[in-house]
Amino acid sequence: MIEAHVFCPLPQVLSSPLESGVIKKARDCNGLRVFVHDLHEFSPDRHRNIDDAPFGGGPGMVIRVDVIANALSKVFEMSPFLVREKLPVILLSPRGEKFDQEKAKELSRNKHFALICGRYEGIDERVREHFASFEISIGDYVLSGGELAALVILDAVSRLIPGVLGNYESLGEESFSGPCLEYPQFTRPSDFKGLKVPRVLLSGDHKRIREWRKTCAREITQKRRPDLLV
Ligand code: SAM
Repeated sequence: MIEAHVFCPLPQVLSSPLESGVIKKARDCNGLRVFVHDLHEFSPDRHRNIDDAPFGGGPGMVIRVDVIANALSKVFEMSPFLVREKLPVILLSPRGEKFDQEKAKELSRNKHFALICGRYEGIDERVREHFASFEISIGDYVLSGGELAALVILDAVSRLIPGVLGNYESLGEESFSGPCLEYPQFTRPSDFKGLKVPRVLLSGDHKRIREWRKTCAREITQKRRPDLLV
C-alpha cells in the first residue's frame, strides 16, 4: 500500500480524478491511499491566506513558507512514523527533474510520498531549500497549478501497482517499459470503409505477429524518439 499526501491550494481540482479510472481502482484495491491537504487550513491568519507579494517586487503572489511548514508538521504530528521513515517530499515545479516512466517506477516502490503543489507565481524558495527532497516537473510548459501535475504522477504510479490494471501483463509491452515505444494497436472492425487492419494481425500466427510488432515498435521509435534507442 502506498500512501500519498497531496498539499495544494485547490483540492477541488483533485476530487473527480481521484474518484475515477485507474486512481480509483488503485484506491479501491488498497494499493493506494491519497490524503489531500488544503493549504488554506494551514494559513497563519484568520482569512486563510496562503500567499503574499514577492520580496523585491514583481508580479503575482508567492505561497508562504510557513504555510507549507505548518502543513508538513501537522501531518508529521499525526503520523510520526513518516518522520522516522523520511517521507520523500516532492515539490512540483517546472524547474524540477523531468517526470518519466523510470521516476514513476521509483515512486511506486515507496511506501509513501508527499506532493506539494504550487499556484500563482510559485512557492517561497525556502520550501525547496529546507523541506523538499527533490523537485519534479511533468514537462516543459507552465501549468497554473501543481494539482494537475500531482494527478499525472498519481495516475502513472497507480497503474504500476500490482493488481490495479486488469491485465497486469500488458505493462510489459507498453511504451517506455523497454527501449521502444509501443507498436500500433487495432480492433474491430477489421475493415472500416476500406481502412484495413494489417493482414498479419488476422493471421493467427503468433510468432509472425510478435515479429511484426517488434519491427513496428522499433521503426516508430527510430522515427519519433531515436534518443530512446541509444
Ligand atoms: N513562476 C513559476 C515559474 O516560472 O517557474 C511558475 C509557477 S506556476 C504558474 C504555479 C505552480 O504550478 C508551480 O508552483 C508548480 O507547482 C505548478 N507547475 C506549473 N508547471 C508545472 C510543471 N511543468 N510541472 C510540475 N508542476 C508545475
